[in-house]
Amino acid sequence: MAATIIDGKAFAAKVRAQVAEHVQRLKDEHGLVPGLAVVLVGEDPASQVYVRSKGKQTVEVGMNSYEHKLDVATTEAALLSLIQQLNADPKVHGILVQLPLPPHMNSDLVINAIDPAKDVDGFHISNVGLLGTGQKSMVPCTPLGSLMMLRDHLGSLSGLNAVIVGRSNIVGKPMAQLLLGDSCTVTIAHSRTKDLAEVCRRADILVAAVGRPEMIQGDWVKPGATVIDVGINRIARDGKNTLVGDVDFASASAVAGAITPVPGGVGPMTIACLLANTLTATCRAHGLAEPQGLTA
Ligand code: NDP
Repeated sequence: MAATIIDGKAFAAKVRAQVAEHVQRLKDEHGLVPGLAVVLVGEDPASQVYVRSKGKQTVEVGMNSYEHKLDVATTEAALLSLIQQLNADPKVHGILVQLPLPPHMNSDLVINAIDPAKDVDGFHISNVGLLGTGQKSMVPCTPLGSLMMLRDHLGSLSGLNAVIVGRSNIVGKPMAQLLLGDSCTVTIAHSRTKDLAEVCRRADILVAAVGRPEMIQGDWVKPGATVIDVGINRIARDGKNTLVGDVDFASASAVAGAITPVPGGVGPMTIACLLANTLTATCRAHGLAEPQGLTA
């Protein structure tokens, strides 16, 4: 039987509506407007598209968007000084530095200069540690969006076997922490994993975050499994520039119980979760009740 398609676009629209409603309440009841500052260094075309889209959606849910576009030759010291200003600015509740940064900058140093309470990407070492120890933290947006879709589709995840292919700090590792937090039995696979296909076939939940177009084939998928495809890969197909995931959708969707498409799966949820995190950061900064269902 063909898999259920998990519609990330529709889910993201629901999350944005929930965020917008809460933002309106903050305005009406507390005179508060959440603010998100996005910092872009250089002119990487993909980063420019992401930043534009983030800014647009921030405004659409009623938040203030502050964009800081810096020249590629900006010094690390100048970027750190901007971050200090944003840390101190009470109108700014969330700060996102668009990655990758130019090679002359130390990304870890820059990310760890952000006030952890405003670190809406959840990459600051304090948030990484809080998440790893099961404490309240800012949760990285892509894994958070993936978790929300899994919970929505499966209900309780307790006791399920989860396999995550990819061990990056921004997707694979935090995804593993979140699934462990929901009592899955978690395996993290990577480029040195032996017999990856066999490892994947054990998964009730299979998360692909590899960056290799259509690597995961249908016969790697356990019948009925839920597949979350995080990959975003541009390939040339039939003379056209096409977006595909890390999972071979055609073969995997014939075996899986449910699957996220690319595009229209994890991608839209990532930006929706950035807005949710900015709202959460605003509520926490002002000691107000956090929105339900929008955090891990
Ligand atoms: P990274 O390149 O940082 O990590 C890739 C991971 O995949 C590594 O752990 C690597 O293993 C593993 N890997 C690479 N090749 C293989 C292989 N042949 N077999 C098994 N494992 C392999 O990527 P990211 O985590 O940043 O991103 C992963 C994908 O997700 C990309 O396509 C990216 O574009 C996409 N992405 C999508 C987002 C969204 O909003 N939807 C957000 C962020 C990323 P090793 O560590 O051993 O090298």
